[in-house]
Amino acid sequence: MPGWGSSRWSGFGVAIIGVLVAAAARAALEPVLGDRAAYLPFVLAILATVLACGPVPAVLAAIMSLGFGWYFSGFGRLNAADIVEAATFLVVAAGIIALGHLMNRARRRASVSDAKADARSREARQVIEELNLLIDGAHGHAIYMLDTTGHVTIWNEGAERLKGWSEAEVLGKHASLFYPPDARAIGKPEADLARAREEGRFEEEDWRLRKDGREFLAAVSTTALVDEAGELRGFAKIVSDITDKRAAENTIRAREDHLSSILSTVPDAMVVINDHGVILSFSAAAQALFGYSEEETVGRNVSMLMPSPDRERHDSYIARYLETGEKRIIGKGRVVFAARKDGSSFPMELSIGEASTGDQRIFTGFVRDLTERRHTEARLEDLRSELIHVSRVSAMGSMASTLAHELNQPIGAIANYVEAVRDRLVDLDPAELPMLIEALGDAAKDALRAGDIVRRLREFVARGEVARTVERLPALINEASVLGLIGARERGIEARFDLDPYASPVFVDRVQIQQVLINLIRNACEAMKDQDERRVTVTSRLDRAGFARVTVMDTGPGVAPEIANQLFTAFVSTKQDGMGLGLSICRTIIEANEGRIWMEPGEGGGTCFHFTLPLAEMEDEHGEQ
Ligand code: ADP
Repeated sequence: MPGWGSSRWSGFGVAIIGVLVAAAARAALEPVLGDRAAYLPFVLAILATVLACGPVPAVLAAIMSLGFGWYFSGFGRLNAADIVEAATFLVVAAGIIALGHLMNRARRRASVSDAKADARSREARQVIEELNLLIDGAHGHAIYMLDTTGHVTIWNEGAERLKGWSEAEVLGKHASLFYPPDARAIGKPEADLARAREEGRFEEEDWRLRKDGREFLAAVSTTALVDEAGELRGFAKIVSDITDKRAAENTIRAREDHLSSILSTVPDAMVVINDHGVILSFSAAAQALFGYSEEETVGRNVSMLMPSPDRERHDSYIARYLETGEKRIIGKGRVVFAARKDGSSFPMELSIGEASTGDQRIFTGFVRDLTERRHTEARLEDLRSELIHVSRVSAMGSMASTLAHELNQPIGAIANYVEAVRDRLVDLDPAELPMLIEALGDAAKDALRAGDIVRRLREFVARGEVARTVERLPALINEASVLGLIGARERGIEARFDLDPYASPVFVDRVQIQQVLINLIRNACEAMKDQDERRVTVTSRLDRAGFARVTVMDTGPGVAPEIANQLFTAFVSTKQDGMGLGLSICRTIIEANEGRIWMEPGEGGGTCFHFTLPLAEMEDEHGEQ
């Protein structure tokens, strides 16, 4: 061990030199000291050696010192006093060596713990540096500390980036600097610190100020820093700017609201699925149509809305499309069957649109219930058959000869009876009186029969009993106009409507009133066939108390003056093939419905036909509207 050896040898060197120096000093003092204090200088040499080089060289120094001391105390004599002095020296030397050794050990220990303390403080500095880097590197966050009174003590770079103040500008300033004036005015900065002290920590979203005066929406966390003894040491603040995040969230929320408003109002049922067939959304109309709520469907496979065999096969339909891209239904629309929650199935028209969001494809199905449409079609069919009833009016033309014959017979008979009675009255034979009375009776009977035929005819056309219900007038007018205006557009006729929703509901026989409207509209269209301007306008308004008034106005030539006074009388017509029954039937119907019908010349030419209808009682209105 060269290291050990060299230091040990140098230790011996030090011992020897130290003892020689001491010996020289003692020799120099020989004239003064004589043989006294022969050992004293060597005590210092031993002490120096043990402190500098350890106990082993010090033992060498002690042995050498014993030799020199023996020499200086009068070499060669062996008396008791010298022996005691030598022994005392040895004890003292041993004590010095032991003490020096202990001191050395203590010194070494002290230096080791010093080194450890150094290492610890180096580590602490490193941790602080790293912590600062971490805090400064926290992008988008201002991290800073306040003392117990709210003044800034630590300020990171993030805080400078976010708020604009540099560390130098802000250290020692009160945190109220970061609050907008109105918050400062109500003492919010102080209140926030008090709250943090009370609750330990609290978070809030609030407006804060930048150095340039701009405000931003901040997420703020304030923590009270309390030491082990429970004493408040200050506050830690973490602030981030969430203005953009909040704006983005608001945009997303607005879009979601928009979408859900579309979903809840779109009249067709709408079902959105992903490429695994899982339902993502289910519109309000779909809920009404299928009978499932949104919670019952979203997240489940859309095949639940289909009857067999589509229910079992639907997943493979999607898989095949995703694999081949072959569109069998997407973008085309098809009539398929759907299953309701109650197990019933119904025909529907399904159109599917496709969209991609990120890496996911979604499919939107629009469902139109065909049962509904079939109902509508059936309803139109009903109306058409009603119209056939109305067109019996024109069928009257072909019945005219039959009627003429029927009427001819009783009228001819009446004429015969009356003429015969007149002839006999010229020279009256009282014996013939009973026969004449009988003939007049027969004439009266035939007259009644003729009247009966005409009444039956009117009843036949006006369709029997009045069956009145509460009806919404605008809807009733619209329906009738569709039928009355069939073919009108082709003839260049424009139709206008001006319907007052408040002039409703009415208490009428719906089919009969529609028959009147169809008649008036048809007449208007016929009257305008030679006009340049062809427009029919249907208006509804409130009339005198309890009545609504409907007006059909045209731009025709107006009613011929010769018939204007007897327009509503049967068999008055200016048309070659006209029966002159339409308006008379209209009057019968309107009067049977407790209304009134009349004609006025239009303001700028043309004709206005008005009729009134009784409004339904108010309590019925709520039920119907
Ligand atoms: P018809 O249409 O069979 O003649 P109506 O009773 O419906 O029977 O009409 C009677 C007559 O009233 C018609 O022949 C026509 O001269 C006249 N008239 C009806 N509506 C109009 C109208 N809008 N404009 C002009 N004249 C009309």
